[in-house]
Amino acid sequence: MPRIRRSRLALTALVTAALVGVGGAAVAVNAQPAIHTKTPRTAESITNIDVLRQQIANYYGDPLKTGEIGARSNYVKELRGIETRAARYLVHAKAHHGKKKAILLDVDDTTLATYNYEIDSNWDYDPASNGEFVTDQKFPAVPGMVKLVRLAKADGYKIFYLTGRGAAQEEATLGNLTQDGVGVDAHYPQPTDPDGAGPEDGLYTKPDLAAYPQYLKDRCGDDKCTTIEYKSATRKHIESLGYDIVANFGDQYSDLKGGAADRGFKLPNPSYYLP
Ligand SMILES: [Mg+2]
Repeated sequence: MPRIRRSRLALTALVTAALVGVGGAAVAVNAQPAIHTKTPRTAESITNIDVLRQQIANYYGDPLKTGEIGARSNYVKELRGIETRAARYLVHAKAHHGKKKAILLDVDDTTLATYNYEIDSNWDYDPASNGEFVTDQKFPAVPGMVKLVRLAKADGYKIFYLTGRGAAQEEATLGNLTQDGVGVDAHYPQPTDPDGAGPEDGLYTKPDLAAYPQYLKDRCGDDKCTTIEYKSATRKHIESLGYDIVANFGDQYSDLKGGAADRGFKLPNPSYYLP
């Protein structure tokens, strides 16, 4: 065998060993990143990440990075446009098939603004430090959203919240959204109890796999649901209880994909992407 060919074989073996790993634990050779995007050709064509952080702070009307959202910020202006469109839509929208009309809202950066945590963590999410913000109920309302949800409720809409936050964070999340005297009380309407005397309370947090309700098992089998599966299966379940989700509000595309809502409203979030 020619020398060059043998060395290439050795190299191939080396690469294979690296991919498979010592001890034979298979690493997915075809692993893909969660976010599919372009590959920039040059560094100059990428916004420098420190500059980008400053641009995001400017967008939130907070150039000195205090963590407070400016009332006249472009973020607030952009929100106002979306909220105005949503309010006009909700006034005229009707529930289908004789069902009760409802709206459904995500929590982080849809009802509660986590910009203060981005500043605190310098956009470096960490479950432990984020968990402290959740437990201490530190998040203010997304500007304009309390008014919108209250208008919807006054117009007869039932109110549901659906979040990727874990079940262990449910009590603190409800307290931050509504009022419990701990940390921030955003004064959103209480969630609608969808099933009367049943186990559900209208604020849906993500259960551990072992505690999946039947509708998540039906969708995802023995596996953990993806965000899109978890959220769309939960919406479908809510609709099966006699509600029509007329509008679904989220800051992530994964909040809005998968159906079981008449219309989705995408709120701005330049800080993170959840597939
Ligand atoms: Mg969110």
